[in-house]
Amino acid sequence: MYTHTFAIPTSLPTVFRWAVCCFLSTSSIAFAAEADRFAAVQVVAQPVGGNVYMLTGAGGNIGVSVGEDGTLIIDDQFAPLAERIQQAIDELGGDKPKIVLNTHFHGDHVGGNKALGQDTPIIAHENARKRLLGKRDTSDEAFRNSLPWITFDDDLSLHFNGEEIEIVHFPTGHTDTDCVLFFSKSNVVHMGDHFFNGRFPFIDLAGGGDVASYIDNVQTIIDRLPTDVKIIPGHGPLATLDDLKAFKAMLDETVGIIRDGIGVGKDEDKLQAEGLPDKYAEAGTGFVNTKRWIAIVFESLTR
Ligand SMILES: [Zn+2]
Repeated sequence: MYTHTFAIPTSLPTVFRWAVCCFLSTSSIAFAAEADRFAAVQVVAQPVGGNVYMLTGAGGNIGVSVGEDGTLIIDDQFAPLAERIQQAIDELGGDKPKIVLNTHFHGDHVGGNKALGQDTPIIAHENARKRLLGKRDTSDEAFRNSLPWITFDDDLSLHFNGEEIEIVHFPTGHTDTDCVLFFSKSNVVHMGDHFFNGRFPFIDLAGGGDVASYIDNVQTIIDRLPTDVKIIPGHGPLATLDDLKAFKAMLDETVGIIRDGIGVGKDEDKLQAEGLPDKYAEAGTGFVNTKRWIAIVFESLTR
């Protein structure tokens, strides 16, 4: 998920998120807001499978592998939560992460790098580094140290805590920086933002994403997963393969409606007025509401 230079926690009610958004636009008070908006956030760990745990707080779901080789963390939410994230890891018997991995470049997945990634290898797809770096220089040491400094192009394997962790780049999906992690022995997959469990996904068209390609990527992942796999989505609760298939069916049906409408000459206003089937009302209660989902799909299919 991504909202330019910051991301509002999806756990907050919509009205409050808009309030935070307007509030943060006044930069002089943004710093105070940064600390305040995380004050009530609790970081909670739950077992997933084998060595792997899921941590929730604010922002993208965190995956953690804890074992004899040490601690690996996948995504790290926001820097103000770093102490709470580390405490949750400590309570699992882990320690300071030996490796930090970013599924993609959005701020609610990499914000903790500056705290948890100092003096630690940070791994991500090469496009994630490029997009995080942008036009900034690396003279600021803290910023430089928060960037992924081990990058890969198509895929990479880590051999850690008794299993192979396969990290695969899925291009032009949620962004052009996304990877999905497959834990061979724990039978777990971390999908990053290729999965918003039960909700319409945010697809970052300006960040290299594409709706049709996103759906293709989800199908490719479904095809390689065993039926009893445990899935950590980028957002939403821990999931099963059936949950992922339901997400895919929702994408297919809603995108199909919009594609068909475009095919018979409907413009976006007409498609917005018609909306989507009532059974998907719940899917529009997250970060991306129904109106925004229609807008994203329309733009992606017509640009
Ligand atoms: Zn994202």
